Amino acid sequence: MTGIAEEVAALTFRTRAFIDGAFVDAASGRTYRVENPANGRTLAEVAECDAEDVDRAVAAAKRAAESGVWSGMAPGDRKRLLVRFADLIDEHVGELALIESLDVGKPISDTRALDIPDTAACIRWHAEAIDKLYDQVAPTGPGAVAMVVREPIGVVGAIVPWNYPAQMAAWKLGPALATGNCVVIKPAQVTSLSLLRIAELAAEAGLPAGVLNVVTGPGSVVGTAIARHPDVGAVAFTGSTEVGRTVLAHSAESNLKRVMLELGGKSPQIVMADAANLDRVAERVSAAIFWNMGENCSAGSRLLVDRRVKDDLLARLVHVTGSTWLVGDPLDEATRVGPLVTRVHMERVLGYIEAGTREGARAVTGGGRVLEETGGYFVAPTIFDDATNDMRIAQEEIFGPVLTVVAFDGEDEAIRLANDTDYGLAASIYTENVRTAHRMARAVHAGTVGVNCYSEGDLTTPFGGFKLSGFGGHDKSVHAHDQYMELKTIWIDMAD
Ligand code: NAD
Repeated sequence: MTGIAEEVAALTFRTRAFIDGAFVDAASGRTYRVENPANGRTLAEVAECDAEDVDRAVAAAKRAAESGVWSGMAPGDRKRLLVRFADLIDEHVGELALIESLDVGKPISDTRALDIPDTAACIRWHAEAIDKLYDQVAPTGPGAVAMVVREPIGVVGAIVPWNYPAQMAAWKLGPALATGNCVVIKPAQVTSLSLLRIAELAAEAGLPAGVLNVVTGPGSVVGTAIARHPDVGAVAFTGSTEVGRTVLAHSAESNLKRVMLELGGKSPQIVMADAANLDRVAERVSAAIFWNMGENCSAGSRLLVDRRVKDDLLARLVHVTGSTWLVGDPLDEATRVGPLVTRVHMERVLGYIEAGTREGARAVTGGGRVLEETGGYFVAPTIFDDATNDMRIAQEEIFGPVLTVVAFDGEDEAIRLANDTDYGLAASIYTENVRTAHRMARAVHAGTVGVNCYSEGDLTTPFGGFKLSGFGGHDKSVHAHDQYMELKTIWIDMAD
């Protein structure tokens, strides 16, 4: 055995829930099987937790919150521990990247260069910010001193999806922990392995027991128990719009906990006739849809292109798709597109490809399953031409490597089509005219708009959705901090 095969053989997975600073079995003793989507073989048996385990985790988090062991720490001290935590993630990048690739099917070149380094960077960014934020003194006049202070909520629940298991967890953990909360987090049922190892690294960094708890298991059981728990003060959710709605309903029916939802998308990439360098545009458009197998909330899954340049751009797109977005074993450095996360998800994506053809669109590249002999869930990057915006493949989130191309005539129609969706997460606009760019960026209903690029911004910018793409908050940047804190007024009468 050489190289990566040796590394895989040497891996041991953490498979039990992490509660009150220790790995524990599910109270029921049950486990469930997770598999490697690149070959369909069993990867691990993970603790199948239920409401009893959520109770244990929330109790541990509540004890830690009430003791002040974390919230009462000087921000600079909390920062030091969280920076150490981020450093440990960086030091284990090889191991964590391998776990993430095996568990999710992501190309190893991405998990090594992006997923895991970005996870560490996110924790570090929020930690570094926390001893530089000030509260306020209100302009009351001499009769009183009124302080407007922010306090941690206490116990925060987090529910995260399978497409970026480590990174999406960090988008919640970074701001929630930095602001002094204790967290109970639930990874997606099929992708728990990286977060369990990350929780262990948090303990190694010195985070006190109970500050970070990970409860594994089915969303309908564990996620519901978190969302309905009376001692959870806020829940930060990333996932589908459908499940996000139920989380909001659970809050309404329980303790009115604060709810932040980061949801799905059907993001337009708009290419105007004056867009420069169509080769570069083709590279960026293809990256926006095929990166991470299209399993990306902000995937640019609709290409809206001026009819005058459509055929030219499409020819370049087909070329770059074939030459760059190579499907294969995620552990091969050359692979850019791994398998989809599960068989069920692959079948859902293939169902959309069939629907696209049935509705009259035409696959100009891809269009089906590939590498079936591996036992893995691979789908070829697929581009549908001749689509209209009312087709299912233009309206529904496919969450796979499928690009739907719709032609338009003029700016007004481009904006109308871009906004003709229930979602509003992200958008891109390609044009050489700064006035067009600015006008269109304002007119598109989306939380993040990239001009001449596909972008989710970076850690300094907030990320959240309009319409059915989000509710109640944002991830990243200092805007993420307030949602994990209560605002309190302390009014001190100064009269004699
Ligand atoms: P999902 O909604 O099925 O699951 C998300 C999480 O919720 C998982 O941990 C799941 O176990 C849990 N869950 C499932 N049922 C639940 C219930 N009844 N109550 C509480 N929790 C429950 O989503 P997914 O398939 O894991 O992820 C894909 C979705 O996530 C896509 O729609 C994608 O757009 C979205 N997403 C959004 C963002 C963003 O920042 N806006 C980022 C990544 C993914």
